[in-house]
Amino acid sequence: MTDSDYIIDDKGNWRPAKKLEFDPIFVWPPRPIQFLKYLFSFPGYIWPWNIFYIAIAVIIYLFFQPAISECKNFSFSWISIVFLRNLFLVFVYAGLMHLRFYIFKYQGEKYQYNTKPLGTGNKFWHFGSQTRENMFWTLCSAVPIWSAYEVIFLWGYANNIFPYIDFNTNPIYFCVLFLLLPGWQMVHFYFSHRITHWKPLYKWVHYLHHRNVNTGPWSGLSMHPVEHIIYFSTVLIHFIIPSHPLHMIFHIQRTGLAAIHGHSGFDKIMLNKHRAKLPHASYFHYLHHKYFECNYGELWMPLDKWFGSFHNGSKEDDERLVNK
Ligand SMILES: [Zn+2]
Ligand SMILES: [Zn+2]
Repeated sequence: MTDSDYIIDDKGNWRPAKKLEFDPIFVWPPRPIQFLKYLFSFPGYIWPWNIFYIAIAVIIYLFFQPAISECKNFSFSWISIVFLRNLFLVFVYAGLMHLRFYIFKYQGEKYQYNTKPLGTGNKFWHFGSQTRENMFWTLCSAVPIWSAYEVIFLWGYANNIFPYIDFNTNPIYFCVLFLLLPGWQMVHFYFSHRITHWKPLYKWVHYLHHRNVNTGPWSGLSMHPVEHIIYFSTVLIHFIIPSHPLHMIFHIQRTGLAAIHGHSGFDKIMLNKHRAKLPHASYFHYLHHKYFECNYGELWMPLDKWFGSFHNGSKEDDERLVNK
């Protein structure tokens, strides 16, 4: 069975019709036309996902964020608002995605990487199913640790401890930083992720995320608390680069929410029953869950290519990794 952009091979495996390619940023010779297309086309780097995450951050900052001046002291009133709002955000975002793909099955198996159902049973999964176990680690560890980072930064901005800029003083830098932060997060993810594949850390920490060979939205943040500390430490860059609290909120929210949609298990989300669709999960990262020793980063910077761990999604690369 084929479609213009994917193939189901003779073993029943879903794969993209074309080999995976890195984004046209770190290429030599430079490809400026492709780069601009990648940046501004729809779907592309900015549209729709980064704009979507910027919009969520702006809405949260304007309507659900305690005033920065209130955050000078650690007090229960504003810290609880930050925690509850993040809890609500994650619960709704991952919950709706799970309902859509796995309960209501709005698009059936269309664009699904692995059509086996998500895991059930007490033997392997805590609380009786993969989804419940994933929800536990997401809501009881990811959200508190993500919120703790936010609280530290909000306290720091309120007390003028961290380098600060705003739109009025640096309008261009203020806007460009929104585009650079996801890139930084993806580089941070590659190196921090590789560290968690160091045997002792894998055995005690990262194994928990890899219990999910087949993933759903709730698997994205299903990690050991130590891994959450490492994963969200991408925001520590705001200790040194001048930024506004809105940048920090966008940065950490995107880090959390993109993991949820990146693990949804569906390459595209159908906006209607016919043709309209948007890129959704990351097949590149799905292959990491399937084969473990490949694709540690993202397609943004070719770090996996430079360090020899790139799986391009082809049958030949499947066989190379299986026979390794
Ligand atoms: Zn891993
Ligand atoms: Zn993963």
